Amino acid sequence: MTFTPPMAFAGAPLDLVENERSEADLTAFAKARKARALIMHHGQFLTKNGELVMIAPMKMVGKNIYDPGPLFLGLDGNAPIFAFSFADPVEALDMTNNANLEPLRGLAAKLDPKQLALAGRAKSLFDWHRAHKFCSNCGNQSYVTNGGVTRKCPSCETDHFPRVNPVVIMLVLHGDKCLLGRGPQWPEGAYSCLAGFVSPGETMEEACVREVFEEVGVTVQDMEYRFSQPWPFPSQLMMGLSCQATNTDITLDNKEIADAQWFSKETVRGVFNGTDTAFLCPPAFTIAHQLLQTWLDD
Ligand SMILES: [Zn+2]
Repeated sequence: MTFTPPMAFAGAPLDLVENERSEADLTAFAKARKARALIMHHGQFLTKNGELVMIAPMKMVGKNIYDPGPLFLGLDGNAPIFAFSFADPVEALDMTNNANLEPLRGLAAKLDPKQLALAGRAKSLFDWHRAHKFCSNCGNQSYVTNGGVTRKCPSCETDHFPRVNPVVIMLVLHGDKCLLGRGPQWPEGAYSCLAGFVSPGETMEEACVREVFEEVGVTVQDMEYRFSQPWPFPSQLMMGLSCQATNTDITLDNKEIADAQWFSKETVRGVFNGTDTAFLCPPAFTIAHQLLQTWLDD
C-alpha cells in the first residue's frame, strides 16, 4: 500500500451520523452538554489564541444567522459539532474578547489538524448552500434538510447533495527532474504541480494526460495514483498522481500557465530545506507539497 502523508483538511475526525438527522435528533444534539459550534462571519472564522472559538450552540438561539441555519457537521466522539454563519458583526456575540476573524487559507498553516478538518467541511458546505439555493431541475427555491447536508425542492421533490469537484494534480517526472508550473496570478517565483478538473467521460489517468499536454505540450504515460486531499476552496477533491514524461520540450498554454520549468531533485531538495531559492515551494498544507516531499523521500 502506498504511503499516505498526513493531509491538511482531511483526517475524517467526525461521525457524520447520516441516519440521525431528524428535527428531534438535531434538537437533542444541539442541547447536549458537550455540543459545540464554530462561528463564521462573511466567509471568515472566529478564532482566539490560534484556535477556533467553539461555543454552546444553544447560545445562538434568537441570533441572526444566514442560510442554511444551524449546520450539523457530525459527532466528535460524543460531542455534537455545529457551525453557524453569523449575520451580525461578531461583536454582537458576547464571547469575542481578543477574538479575530480569519480566512481559512490563513488558518491552514496554524490550526490543529482536527479543527482544520472541521473548518474545511464547514466552509465547503456553506459555500455549496450559498451557490445552490435553487433547484437545478425546475428552478424553484429549495430548502435545507438533514441538518444542512442536503437540500430538497418542494416543487419537484428532487433531493440535492453537496458537490465535490474532482481535480487531478500531477507530479510529472523525467529522470531525476520534475515539471512545475506557475499560474498567471501567482506570487512571483511560486511554482507548483500542474493540475486541472476532470472532464465528464474521463478517468483520472486520461485527465492527467490531457491536462499536461494542454498546459505545457508534454506527453506523459505510466500514471500512478498516490493520494488525495479535500480542498475547500470551494469544494474540490485533489487526486494526486505521478506520471513519466516521454518528452521534455515545453510549449506553454499562456492562458493557464505563465511559466513551466524542469527542476532537478537536488534543486527541489534545496528549496525544501531552505538552501536554494530557485523557486517558492507550495505551502506544507497542500497536496502539491506532499507529492514533492514523497518524491524527495523516495
Ligand atoms: Zn425542483
